[in-house]
Amino acid sequence: MNQDIHVVVEHLRGQVADITYVALAAARGLAAGSGGSLAAVLLGHNDEGLAGDLGADRVLYIDDPALADFNPEHYAGALTELISADPPRCVLFGDTSMGAETAGILSARLDLPLVSRCRSVDTANGALSFVSQICGGKILVEGALPEPVSLVTMVPGHYQPEEGRGAVAPEVIQTSISPRVAGRVTFNAYLEPAVGDIDISSVSVLVAVGRGIANEDNVEMAEELAEALGGAVCGSRPVVDQGWLPTTRMVGKSGKRVKPDVYLALGISGAPEHVEGMSGSELTIAVNTDVGAPIFDVAQYGSDVDLLDLLPVLIEQVQAAKEG
Ligand SMILES: Cc1cc2nc3c(=O)[nH]c(=O)nc-3n(C[C@H](O)[C@H](O)[C@H](O)COP(=O)(O)OP(=O)(O)OC[C@H]3O[C@@H](n4cnc5c(N)ncnc54)[C@H](O)[C@@H]3O)c2cc1C
Repeated sequence: MNQDIHVVVEHLRGQVADITYVALAAARGLAAGSGGSLAAVLLGHNDEGLAGDLGADRVLYIDDPALADFNPEHYAGALTELISADPPRCVLFGDTSMGAETAGILSARLDLPLVSRCRSVDTANGALSFVSQICGGKILVEGALPEPVSLVTMVPGHYQPEEGRGAVAPEVIQTSISPRVAGRVTFNAYLEPAVGDIDISSVSVLVAVGRGIANEDNVEMAEELAEALGGAVCGSRPVVDQGWLPTTRMVGKSGKRVKPDVYLALGISGAPEHVEGMSGSELTIAVNTDVGAPIFDVAQYGSDVDLLDLLPVLIEQVQAAKEG
C-alpha cells in the first residue's frame, strides 16, 4: 500500500481526452495532501507519444497489442494487475463511457469502493474527501474517500484541462504487465459518425436548445438566431430523442464534444452527461428559468428569463445590429 494517486489516461484515435487533464488537475491536489506522488497510467499499443504533456510526476505505460483499441475487459485486466501489485491510495478515471465502464469492472473485481461523478476532490489534514454531483447535478454530496484504496470517476466543470497539462514531459516507465485476455469482449470496428450534416464540433457559435424549448416549432426560432449569429443549432438529448433535431446535433456523453467560442445554452439544465460534451466551450451563456440549474455552475454569464420571451427579442436585436 502506498499514498500515490493514479489517473487512468483516456484516449481515442491518438488524442488524449480533456477529462484526463481534468482528472490530473484534481489528482495533483490529492497527491500533495496524501504525501504520495502522481502517476498517469497509460494503456495502449505504440502510444508512448501521448505521454508528453500529461501533468504527472511519472507515466506508468502498459503496452500491449490487446490495448491498441479501448476494450473494457482488457483495460480492467491490466489495471487489476497494476493495482494488485502495488495498491495506490486512489485511482481517478473520467466519468465517461470508457472510464465508468472500466472503473465499474475494477470495483467489482477487486472489491474496491467506487465514488462516481465527483466534481472535486480535496484534502484536509491528510484526509481525502470528495464532492459528487447526483440527480443530474442538482444535488452535491460530500464525503471522505474510503481507505485504503478508492476508485473515483470525475466529471468536468470544476477544474480546467489546462491545469492538468505539464510543461515538461514526465518520465515514462514501461511496465511488464500484459492484460489477461479472456476474449469475452472483442473490438470489431470503429464507426465514424455519419456525414451529411454539419459538424457541430467545428462550429464557433452554437445555439444549444434543451427540453425548455418546449416544442419542435420553437426550434425554428433557435435556427433563426443561429443563422443571424453565423452559427448552428445543437441540443441536449431529450430534444434529439423527441426527433426535433438529428442525432448529429446532440452534445454530450452520447453525442459530440464541442469547443465553440460561444455556447448559448437555452433551456438546458446542465446534467453531467450534457456538460461532458460542452465544458470545453470558450464562453458559455445560459438561459434558464431555474436559478438553481447546474448549467449556471459552468456558465460565465446567465439569465433566468423565459427563453421563449428572449428569443424573438434577441433575433431582432442581432439582425438590427448586423444591418446597422
Ligand atoms: C448514459 C446516459 C447518457 C446520456 N447522454 C446524454 C448526452 O449525450 N447529452 C445530453 O444532453 N444528455 C444526455 N443524457 C441525459 C441527461 O442525463 C439529461 O437528462 C439531459 O441532458 C437533460 O436535458 P435538458 O437539460 O434539455 O432537460 P431538463 O433536464 O429537463 O432541463 C430543462 C431545463 O429547461 C429549463 N426551462 C424550462 N422552460 C424554460 C423556459 N421557458 N425558459 C428557460 N428555461 C426553461 C428548466 O428550468 C430546466 O432546467 C444521458 C443520460 C444517460 C443516463
